Amino acid sequence: MKRVGILGGGIAGLSLGYFLGPDSEVLERESECGGLCRSFEHEGFTFDLGGHIIFSKDQEILDFELELLKDQVNQLYRRASVWFKGRFVKYPFENGLSVLDKEDIYECLYHFIDNPPREQKTFEDWIYNTFGKGLAEKYLLPYNQKIWKTPPSEMGTRWVERIPKPPAEDIIKSALGIETEGYTHQLYFWYPKEGGFQSLPRSFERHLKGRIVRNFPVQKVRRTPRGWSVSNGSEDREYERIVNTMPIFEFVKTLENVPPEVLRAVDALLYNSLIVVMVGLNRPRRVEQVSSYFPQPDVIFHRLVFFDYFGSNYAPDGCSSMVVEITAKQTDSTWAMTDAEVAKRVTDDLVREGFIEQHEVITTAVRRTKYAYAIYDLHREDNLDIINAWCKEQGIELCGRFAEFVYYNSDAVIRSAKTVSERINQQAVIL
Ligand SMILES: Cc1cc2nc3c(=O)[nH]c(=O)nc-3n(C[C@H](O)[C@H](O)[C@H](O)COP(=O)(O)OP(=O)(O)OC[C@H]3O[C@@H](n4cnc5c(N)ncnc54)[C@H](O)[C@@H]3O)c2cc1C
Repeated sequence: MKRVGILGGGIAGLSLGYFLGPDSEVLERESECGGLCRSFEHEGFTFDLGGHIIFSKDQEILDFELELLKDQVNQLYRRASVWFKGRFVKYPFENGLSVLDKEDIYECLYHFIDNPPREQKTFEDWIYNTFGKGLAEKYLLPYNQKIWKTPPSEMGTRWVERIPKPPAEDIIKSALGIETEGYTHQLYFWYPKEGGFQSLPRSFERHLKGRIVRNFPVQKVRRTPRGWSVSNGSEDREYERIVNTMPIFEFVKTLENVPPEVLRAVDALLYNSLIVVMVGLNRPRRVEQVSSYFPQPDVIFHRLVFFDYFGSNYAPDGCSSMVVEITAKQTDSTWAMTDAEVAKRVTDDLVREGFIEQHEVITTAVRRTKYAYAIYDLHREDNLDIINAWCKEQGIELCGRFAEFVYYNSDAVIRSAKTVSERINQQAVIL
């Protein structure tokens, strides 16, 4: 019997297994680990679940990720844009103002400077206060409405530290056409030379030989006199402790006697699902960028990744690919579309916006992910307080993007796994 059972084999589960060492084991539902960090092969093209790149403000974790991947990564410049009125505006938008029409530049600059603060309760208030009406209404509000499928006026501000505040100097320089860089910690990024982003979880897997149980959908988790029993319906595995990295929605279904207020709190958490469409093209890359953001309501996707930017191993010779991200709710009309309908809509939008010609499309592939984005609505913190307090009382650790319900990137997930593993190891020493 291993001491710690780790439920879920995404980057959270795998990094926990790495940090906790030989006395832990990972239980993963699928035949492959990696969760949201998985990559897929389709007719010679490799793609991820949207744009996944390696970058971090957390230098220790970034160094650790790069050390795991050794020389199997390329360092690339993060050249990205916003697609606005038929032209590329350097990303972040406020750093590329000089290419806008004069009237648009004036409105962005004037309202950035003349910006009487409003009382700040919501994400919408924060956008107006930080950027001013021009930048807010031209780009930030429509883009955020599109990705979150939730009005920014109904979202909180607990996650906005992810969005750097622009210095006035940068905005003025950018309006005048003087080069500035926005998100300096994202200026360069790393990406595996082959295998897609999944090479990162795979590099953890190599250290966990014999400690990953794949094809093990956790169905029942119950207390025993010695700790916990975890069952997939036909086999039980025993542990002293468990750490859940599965989405909290799935985890609570596996437990007995969860108090109704905890179930209600989980039920009240809001999330977005994701549809990713890969479009394979029979011609080489034309755009020297990694990605572009689309605030337009009539374009179905909000972000386009020029996937072959990552390296020559990601498309057949002479070909290129685009991968787009579409957020959806499982109850909405976008999710109800068939894969063929979504792929057609994406290629139609790409043709209309001038990115491709129809005859260049040689293949498409569609992937759907139920849990993709935690939404920071105004009740999220209260609901999480209830869930976290109960899990703590039960001695259950939560770790990961949908277990903790935090808008984590994989670097933050690995940091959380390190913290959880240190806590568990410390408790073992005390006992
Ligand atoms: C569009 C998009 C772009 C992103 N871009 C980046 C980026 O550029 N850089 C970056 O670092 N991060 C990025 N991220 C974030 C990154 O993907 C996540 O932070 C990370 O993958 C979350 O890992 P996790 O292990 O917490 O969760 P998950 O990846 O969701 O893993 C959960 C695991 O639990 C398993 N599971 C579920 N139910 C069960 C069950 N009943 N029994 C057993 N196992 C189960 C699942 O199969 C899965 O393997 C992006 C995310 C998205 C959606």
